[in-house]
Amino acid sequence: MPFARRPHEKRHLMVVSHTHWDREWYLAYQAFRVRLVGLFDTLLDLFDADPEYKHFMLDGHTIPLEDYLEVRPDRFDDLERAVSQGKLLIGPWYIIPDCFLPGGEALVRNFLRGHRVAKQFGSVMKVGYIPDPFGQIAHMPQLLRGFGIEYATMWRGADDSLKTTEFVWVAPDGSEVLTAHKPRGYGVGGSLPRAKPALMARLRQIRDDLEPLATTPYLLVMNGGDHVPPQTELSSIIRVANAEMDDAELVHSSLPEFFERVRDAIGGRIGEWPRHAGEFRSGQRAHLLPGVLSARMWIKQANQECEDLLAHWAEPFSTWADMLKQQVGPEWREPLPPTTAHMPFPTSPESISALIDRAWRHLLENQPHDSICGCSVDAVHDEMRQRYEWVREIGEEIVRQALRTIGALGPDDPLGTVAVFNPTPQRASGWVETTIPWDDARPIAELAPPEGERVPVTLVGEVQRFAIPDGAPAGYDRSRAEIGFVARDVPGYGFRIYRLVPAGATGTGASPARASSDDGRVIENALFRVEASATDGTLTVTDKRAGRTLSGLHRFVDGGDRGDEYNYCAPERDRLVDQPHAPPRIRRELRPGQQRLTIEQTYRLPVRLSDDRAARAGETCDERIVSTVTLTDGVPRINIHTVVENAAEDHRLRVHFPSGLRARVSKADQHFGVVERPLQLPAYDDTWAEEPVGTYPQKAFVSVDDGEHGLTVANRGLPEYEVLETRDGAEIALTLLRCVGWLSRGDLTSRKGPAGPQLRTPGAQMPGAWAFDYAIIPHAGDWSAADAHVPAVQHVRPMRARWNRRGLGHLDWEAQLLRVDSPSFAVSAIKRAEDADGVVVRLYNIRDEAAETTVDVPDARGRVALVNLNEEHVADVDRDEDDGVGITARPNEIVTLRFRR
Ligand SMILES: [Zn+2]
Repeated sequence: MPFARRPHEKRHLMVVSHTHWDREWYLAYQAFRVRLVGLFDTLLDLFDADPEYKHFMLDGHTIPLEDYLEVRPDRFDDLERAVSQGKLLIGPWYIIPDCFLPGGEALVRNFLRGHRVAKQFGSVMKVGYIPDPFGQIAHMPQLLRGFGIEYATMWRGADDSLKTTEFVWVAPDGSEVLTAHKPRGYGVGGSLPRAKPALMARLRQIRDDLEPLATTPYLLVMNGGDHVPPQTELSSIIRVANAEMDDAELVHSSLPEFFERVRDAIGGRIGEWPRHAGEFRSGQRAHLLPGVLSARMWIKQANQECEDLLAHWAEPFSTWADMLKQQVGPEWREPLPPTTAHMPFPTSPESISALIDRAWRHLLENQPHDSICGCSVDAVHDEMRQRYEWVREIGEEIVRQALRTIGALGPDDPLGTVAVFNPTPQRASGWVETTIPWDDARPIAELAPPEGERVPVTLVGEVQRFAIPDGAPAGYDRSRAEIGFVARDVPGYGFRIYRLVPAGATGTGASPARASSDDGRVIENALFRVEASATDGTLTVTDKRAGRTLSGLHRFVDGGDRGDEYNYCAPERDRLVDQPHAPPRIRRELRPGQQRLTIEQTYRLPVRLSDDRAARAGETCDERIVSTVTLTDGVPRINIHTVVENAAEDHRLRVHFPSGLRARVSKADQHFGVVERPLQLPAYDDTWAEEPVGTYPQKAFVSVDDGEHGLTVANRGLPEYEVLETRDGAEIALTLLRCVGWLSRGDLTSRKGPAGPQLRTPGAQMPGAWAFDYAIIPHAGDWSAADAHVPAVQHVRPMRARWNRRGLGHLDWEAQLLRVDSPSFAVSAIKRAEDADGVVVRLYNIRDEAAETTVDVPDARGRVALVNLNEEHVADVDRDEDDGVGITARPNEIVTLRFRR
């Protein structure tokens, strides 16, 4: 080995002072901030008083600076001086997230904002500091390299196949970062003793732990811990230790300095260093805490919704609306309804960007690892709920204004028009609903697309009737109705506009819905036949394209959970409930273009754990579960909406989908590509920190296949799945609820020791009614051959429809903001550039092989450049007048383009 130890070489213990600052956790934010203010006061005094106290690293994030300055704005100059002198190291993150639960784009925004805030104070620490997050994502090295960061340091997730502290971490696209593993966490040198004997014993222990794993003479000694202030006596401690040691020295250092020394020591031999490709998710050496994927599921759902609202609705469509308004020029007028209640609020593009930025801030405030993971006290998560509301309020109003603007630029029609908007890159079909003015004398029966067949409409809900006020302006709506219809082939990141056709007009007459000859338990269209079991409510699905039938799908399975917010733990004597208490009540609803089965069931569940927590209680309660299964014409997917009225405690409720396929791995959508994981658990023994589990994170979908056939289950904000190996093949289990009453406990059989303070968390029992959305996507081949990611992403981000009072005729019946020709590419962002100069489009190759596509933003006619994730220029790019920009990408490579206006 090139890095074999040279025993006589002098060791350099690089002491990096820091604090690990969870912004909220076992205390709420404001309580921790009181302590944070004290930390900064102490630190700034220490920098003044002790010139030998050289560096303090602010835990890799920048939000604590803002939190301090909000209280002490007078200390900006002191902070700026400390940063510019290299004493206070800040960034590169804005907040220290969980890495698995936020989406890839949210992680980019986190770094982007971290860099921006750090710049106000001077400079940003260019080290990927990942202190505490619960496992490491495969794509992290390429995120870091996208910000020009070449070093990373991490802790949780490594197993003992990692033999050294320094190694090269490689992302699926080939990006590499030199990484230092912290085998004992981030507090190995915290609170160094003042008394000499204790100090020397502690240093001996640190050296014994770290030296066998080190590949260079430099050891990373993290001098800090959870919510600790700087150690004011550190300089004298270092002096005392250095006077005692001949073969080692303590150096008060920083992470950048540590990595530069390590890099110099490695020199040109980096190719000989150990390498690790992909994610880290082992609980062998440190707690991984995988149960956070399903603690307080409402947070995960709200996070998905809010990320999509900002990145795929508010940003792209407000950017487009702004570009189109500029094209129209001074003729542009706000398309307001003829009532005085609606005032125009002309908002500048700069202000819209600033508002969206504000919403991103609230969303990022909810993504620290203890926040989004749901592993804090109830007060913390109550405050998160309000932040999500603020994201929704800002985002929805901006989307409403943007869609109104765009729709009003389309063709005009006497009855107004309905525009359907698609927030995904590929053409989409789906059921949409909107409100239109209603006239009982001339009810709207159909919608007419620009070409092709008219679409029948369905009235959903009651017609709303209003009294007309005296002096109401012409055009005042007498009545309004909510209509639903199937929109077909709506262009990606674009719209399709329909005319309204009243009943009795030529060619009208809705085609009757197909009814099957059964007892109301079957729905069927050109792609699928779905039958609900009269005894247990499970589904039998026939995929007519493949001629393949799957049965027993959508079986609820409920088990006990004696764990905590961090870890699932089955009681020693568990009792699974996987059958309803009584036969289900099944209703069928047939609409033109859509058929639905509503399956209503009651499960009799143990009310909680037994008093000794070793079994489930004998006492039971009724858990009502209502699922609506929907088939929509032209949609290669079976959508399911489930409402659970949760009455039980201490349990985990999952829904199972047997695939009937022999598979060895699960394939799950992750940040910038699909990650394969073995179904078999690793061999383990009682030296492990945690028992390995088969539950894993996912984004839009998880898939299994045997090469010939596949089954993909899509979800909206339900990040935990497991694929179980059964006699009949691989079975996908999707977690809906995991209900526990404790932040942490010390008596789990699935984990050694506690993961935090033992505090009660009644909110984590998730009492009340909760709604879940997921979908079944059967297909030929694997997900990639079937392009199953396209309907899965279209399930996460459904289309929206909007009625337009008038049209300026500036746009045609169809238009697109962004054109991406190949389905190999997923879109991560379409946003106004950070410096306001142009539109930034971020895509990635979702496949595990190289792919190419053309990309265009037809309304931005300026030059195009390749930029990095920090939106810094990399290279100019040629653009073809008709096709746009041609790009080729490695597997999972992220490509960010700037289109100038
Ligand atoms: Zn933490």
